[in-house]
Amino acid sequence: MPIAARVFRRSCPPRGEGAIILDQVREHQLARLSVGIDELLASNRFYAERLHAVRSWDDFARLPFTTKPELVADQAAVPPFGTNLTYPLEQYVRLHQTSGSSGSRPLRWLDTADSWAWWRRIWAEHIYAAAGVSARDRVFLAFSFGPFVGFWSAFEGSEHLGALTMTGGSMTTEQRLDAIIELGVTVLVCTPTYALRLAEVAASAGVDLAASPVRLTVHAGEAGASIPATRALIERSYGARCFDHTGMSELGPTGFGCPTGLGVHLIETEFIFEVLPDGAAPLPEATAPAGRGELVATNLGRWGSPVVRYRTGDVVELSRAGCSCGSDLPLAVGGILGRVDDMLTVRGVNLYPAQVEDIVRRYPDVLEFQISHRRERHMDEVTLVLEVEAGRYAVLDVLSAELRKLLGVRVDCRAVDPGTLPRGELKSRRVVRH
Ligand SMILES: [Zn+2]
Repeated sequence: MPIAARVFRRSCPPRGEGAIILDQVREHQLARLSVGIDELLASNRFYAERLHAVRSWDDFARLPFTTKPELVADQAAVPPFGTNLTYPLEQYVRLHQTSGSSGSRPLRWLDTADSWAWWRRIWAEHIYAAAGVSARDRVFLAFSFGPFVGFWSAFEGSEHLGALTMTGGSMTTEQRLDAIIELGVTVLVCTPTYALRLAEVAASAGVDLAASPVRLTVHAGEAGASIPATRALIERSYGARCFDHTGMSELGPTGFGCPTGLGVHLIETEFIFEVLPDGAAPLPEATAPAGRGELVATNLGRWGSPVVRYRTGDVVELSRAGCSCGSDLPLAVGGILGRVDDMLTVRGVNLYPAQVEDIVRRYPDVLEFQISHRRERHMDEVTLVLEVEAGRYAVLDVLSAELRKLLGVRVDCRAVDPGTLPRGELKSRRVVRH
């Protein structure tokens, strides 16, 4: 049986088999890496100078990290595509770009026909498969279909699977809602924020989405679908099961939501993952990483425009304890916990926006929220701005007490009128720094 098939089988592994599979995965990773790096040394200007041949995990551990600022600087120096290209330009068939949501200039990223087929296959065989999407489904993608790769890879992955695939590009929220009902959509793909926005509009139009044929929602772009309270709210609103997914334009689709809802499994058959604890050097056993820290990843199927030991800036808690869903892949518990630079320190307590979201979403009277952050005399001051249902302001005191109890810190809460805060179709900005 191919390794990928064994790793993804759903039955419980016999005792000790997990270790054998891990060894096989390591062997498979090293073989793909070794061939790929040789190719980069021969013809990739960006990486030829940075890398050396890799024949062992020790060789791998001596490779330098790649950072986003390096890639941005490279594209600025050699416009428009930079030098991280392994083949002549005529071999590339697609161009996408990052959202530029973190304030940096968007990165352009090219794919060859082979690497694009790799994206489609991972979506079909891992992300949709784990959620239980099949060729019998009608998949609706409520995205704008701009240059962001996530829209297109999710769309084509669904087609690759054989499902009836439908775009909601350039439709209003009301038109999308009509389409979902009229076309008998069974799977909705969008950001978690947008799923909630659609549900809000449905509720005000008297449409009962829970009674619609939508049975699964698959999410990308934001961490919300791994936040228990947000996931529960989406599942309740649609009467459907909700699945997370992780990925990055520079890297590819890295993980799929575990059916147990405990987190995201990282697809180690297609990537090498490492965990960098608190900015320290990774441990020598980097080949079987676990624990909490920044996720570092190397893709194994995109040699035309690769990233090697890429610092994602995402914080994960990686577990290899084995998962009750039967997958042997490591589990990022709770999905992506936050961005390294998103962490707030409030009166000495470290907290991530996702922890706040998990508490706020338990209160139906709160429609949307934003974390307003100021730095005053070396102290982080945080105010939670809440859109509250008219006449339901009592929730402010209740929520404030709950935040204090669960996070151990006092957070000021302030109400604004419904409809005041933005709801993005992609990567909603919930932390505003002043
Ligand atoms: Zn699992």
